[in-house]
Amino acid sequence: MISVPEIFGSDVFNESVMREKLPKATYKALKKTMDYGDPLAPDVANIVANAMKDWAVEKGCTHYTHWFQPMTGLTAEKLDSFITPAEGGHVIMEFSGKELVKGEPDASSFPSGGLRATFEARGYTAWDPTSYAFIKEKTLCIPTAFCSYNGEALDKKTPLLRSMEAINKSALRVLKLFGSDATRVISNVGPEQEYFLVDREMYSHRKDMIFTGRTLFGAPAPKGQELEDHYFGTIKTRVAAYMKDLDEQLWRLGIHAKTKHNEVAPAQHELAPIYGTTNIATDHNQLTMEIMKRTARKHGFKCLLHEKPFAGINGSGKHNNWSLSTNTGINLLEPGKTPAENAQFLLFLTAVIKAVFDYQDVLRACVATAGNDHRLGANEAPPAIISIFLGDELTGVLDSIVNGYKYEGEHVEMEIGVDVLPHFAKDTTDRNRTSPFAFTGNKFEFRSPGSRLSCAGPNTVLNTIVAKVLDDFADVLEKADNFQDALDDLIKNTIKESKNIIFNGDGYSVDWVAEAEKRGLLNLKSTPEAIPTYLAPKNVELFSKYNVYSETELKSRVEILLDEYCKTINIEALTMIDMAKKDILPAVATYIKELAQTSALAKDCGADTSFEDDLVKRLSALASQTYRRLSALEEAEIKAKDIDDVEALANYYHDTVFVAMGELRASADEIETLVGEKYWPYPTYGQLLFYVK
Ligand code: ADP
Ligand code: MG
Repeated sequence: MISVPEIFGSDVFNESVMREKLPKATYKALKKTMDYGDPLAPDVANIVANAMKDWAVEKGCTHYTHWFQPMTGLTAEKLDSFITPAEGGHVIMEFSGKELVKGEPDASSFPSGGLRATFEARGYTAWDPTSYAFIKEKTLCIPTAFCSYNGEALDKKTPLLRSMEAINKSALRVLKLFGSDATRVISNVGPEQEYFLVDREMYSHRKDMIFTGRTLFGAPAPKGQELEDHYFGTIKTRVAAYMKDLDEQLWRLGIHAKTKHNEVAPAQHELAPIYGTTNIATDHNQLTMEIMKRTARKHGFKCLLHEKPFAGINGSGKHNNWSLSTNTGINLLEPGKTPAENAQFLLFLTAVIKAVFDYQDVLRACVATAGNDHRLGANEAPPAIISIFLGDELTGVLDSIVNGYKYEGEHVEMEIGVDVLPHFAKDTTDRNRTSPFAFTGNKFEFRSPGSRLSCAGPNTVLNTIVAKVLDDFADVLEKADNFQDALDDLIKNTIKESKNIIFNGDGYSVDWVAEAEKRGLLNLKSTPEAIPTYLAPKNVELFSKYNVYSETELKSRVEILLDEYCKTINIEALTMIDMAKKDILPAVATYIKELAQTSALAKDCGADTSFEDDLVKRLSALASQTYRRLSALEEAEIKAKDIDDVEALANYYHDTVFVAMGELRASADEIETLVGEKYWPYPTYGQLLFYVK
């Protein structure tokens, strides 16, 4: 039996290890760097590096790595060993402050969207001392940011750290007006991570899953998720063993893995941690995904983090629970217990509402990927239209503020700064599961991110847009002669202007699409539509103002994201072509031949061969149709080569190639329902989804 408190964080160079291993003065200096971003003096860095190395070597490490998050993919690392030559042909284990603080991976192949010319291809990594170093696979991992020599961000962590600084400053400005003694505001996130587990042996027979992470063909199984019997159902023994192993590994890494359960779709599961500071929670989520995958291999599973591995079955998201808190322990999105707290809460709430309204486009863009397009805007949770769910009660409160009438819900008359908000039971704020952005009691749950997405992007956007609105609010309030009146007007007017973003109804309904259009809300249905909105003048201005992304960095990101979209669809199309040509059409030909021969032989015996004859005809017709559609897809792929502009290419892949893929799939899936099981070249949906015991 393991003792959880004993193993928790045992592979992390955390504060208790620091206190134990570092001289007092060094620990104090490091703590100041961690808490306030003070630069670390070289001699201090040397002592820290040496202590880290000793601790890691004691635990069996031979290597270290600057662990970072490039603009595509999960995480990146390049391993260096600690060895340094010593006299007499020996080596000693060494690690200097310089090596800790800065690394220079020869990482010229990471996408930079034109930020680096090849002659200065090297970027450098810089230690993020606010996120603890940890041990993974006998390697000391140092969480780092990755930048170009001109200081441009080549990763996802740098902009996130910049956005945390932005929200800290703006929120403190506002809090000061309320007389708060807080000296730091922190954004928090608790990401709920969904994933699928399939049997590795079956997976290994599916080229589509191997090359693209999702099934590109596959007829529905007789049973889908309609019974919802999987949701919160008993966890199967093999899956339970996997989850237990996963939890233990995450705990060793100091990750607060808290809840685990089966999700709605068969073979789908979820893991949620206890929330934490955004950059650390983001690192932890990246690690969680990595360890989920690795642990799956050990248990004979394949862990699918794709946003939509199976057509007709729920996709996987990453619900991003976001809140703001102070270093004095106040959650700024928690409805207050006193009139003053309540006014402050309403102001922060209003700021988020306005931010989401003003920057719907970037919120949509920051979750846009080829894989997530299968969820957003494809009649699935949540829709591509960004809106906010507040629940009837809170909406009622806001209405009463705007209209100046009595709020009847709980018989309270709401006057900002005078009254106390009614208590909202959690279930009244968390009922609507169709909203992309829901207030759930004391935090906002952004449900649009796909399961594979790094939390960095969405939280960078959330922090920045809310920082902007809070700054605008502070500009107004700091100048006011009468704070209370100014606050009153500000909240009223802002809600009036932004209230179109509030929607408590069914986000999946067709009516909502029409209603949202009437309200003037954006409906950016696909990645090629969403990504370019990053470059709208108001958004360039926003991100430059807070030094989160310079215009050059934004342009590079747009290019990388569109390019990634094109490459993803291209790989999927090529995989489909390969599968149709080499496996599916040959399989149906074999089956047709078998049927035709059977029919001929049976006819000789004078038997009725209507079954064989009909099926041969139907299958031949479908095979011809598949063949035609295959040729159309091949042609569409060839034409893509003539398009140079990445935005035009992304649109072409979306409008033409992706459509041709859908048609090819439809024919092939129909064939699958008619071909004998032993002739079919791939494990079926039924086997993939239901056969794990
Ligand atoms: P649900 O009903 O969606 O399961 P939970 O309350 O269980 O909601 O929380 C889901 C996630 O939200 C967890 O990861 C949790 O840590 C996180 N969470 C809870 N409170 C906060 C908060 N104040 N800020 C950020 N995340 C939070
Ligand atoms: Mg949730």
